[in-house]
Amino acid sequence: MTPILPGGTIGILGNGQLGRMTAQAAIRMGYNVACYGPDAAPTPCGQAGAREVQGAYDDLDALADFARSVDVMTFEFENVSTAATDVASEHIPVHPSGAVLHTTQDRIREKAALVAAGIPVASYAVVLNPSDLDTATYPGILKTAQSGYDGKGQKLIHNVAEATDAFHKFGGVACVLEAFVPFLWEGSVVGARNAAGDVALYPLVQNIHTHHILDTTMVPAPFASPELQANAAALAGRILDSLDVIGVMCIEMFITNDGIIVNELAPRPHNSGHWSIEGAVTSQFEQHVRAVCGLPLGSTSLRMPAVAMANLLGDCWPDPDYVGALADPRVSLHLYGKQDARIGRKMGHLTAGAASIDDATEAVTAARARLKPAE
Ligand code: AMP
Repeated sequence: MTPILPGGTIGILGNGQLGRMTAQAAIRMGYNVACYGPDAAPTPCGQAGAREVQGAYDDLDALADFARSVDVMTFEFENVSTAATDVASEHIPVHPSGAVLHTTQDRIREKAALVAAGIPVASYAVVLNPSDLDTATYPGILKTAQSGYDGKGQKLIHNVAEATDAFHKFGGVACVLEAFVPFLWEGSVVGARNAAGDVALYPLVQNIHTHHILDTTMVPAPFASPELQANAAALAGRILDSLDVIGVMCIEMFITNDGIIVNELAPRPHNSGHWSIEGAVTSQFEQHVRAVCGLPLGSTSLRMPAVAMANLLGDCWPDPDYVGALADPRVSLHLYGKQDARIGRKMGHLTAGAASIDDATEAVTAARARLKPAE
């Protein structure tokens, strides 16, 4: 691919925090950025210096106009229909491709692709009709095949009756019923691949979720042996290659006594990679820009021995104590410029580096506790 050089324009479908941090990295490198989405300006991405285009994701004429105004297109939001990426790709390169988006926005297609690539996944049944629930393994987790995120569209199920009830409550849409995985901990690998097929992987990190939303990321994963790190990297590299990903992808994993099980893929920068802005030589956002523009990938080495990231959700508002949070000089603050601080909404995050992962985790969680007003 002919590289898109600084001075060119990167188009982003979506205008939230992932677009914002991608725009920040791209603008620093001398690119222009334009973002497209249904929200009125100022959006998190637009506030960071991207030209904002307001439009619906199903307005294919507006999307074609947007595509003609940029040199390459990517997305920060994977529930965009592939009709949108198809229209765009008639005019400019789209990375990751519409094919990658198509695979990863449906759990049935995604699991089939992982199985075909020899990647271990939880055993699962495809559920298109209630009768498909009869032969599934219980306990399990029923998940809608499409449009689920942060625990929405999924339910822990103990028997066929519960499964049937949940399937109907989900509207009878296509689902998968996954066997419940008794994992030791949850982790992820963020990686990037460019058009030349070069791959750069960040280390396996540990993710702590609260109410199905990422709460804290610890880097590198504290309980990961060098062998586990190597296994995670090998699986991630195989996934990036087999799907022919160009851009950043996050591979979420369950770590069990018997090894790694891949849970799901996100074909974009990911919340569990935000630590890399301060913590790695090249952030996941810069890496995404490099990959989609056809540039060489940057180093994923850590700048500090250990890094931790803690999310700031809407429950830290209305009066966050920023001064208190930043009393520890190791802590960095990121806010996404969102006006409406709803409970559970991702508003920003804190990052800290330290000599040990315990120190880094203590630094971000203590800073967040100081930031949150007393109840
Ligand atoms: P997902 O939307 O697939 O990332 O699932 C959200 C969260 O639900 C995961 O981060 C896990 O904590 C939990 N979970 C999902 N699938 C399973 C499973 N098969 N077994 C155990 N826990 C799961």
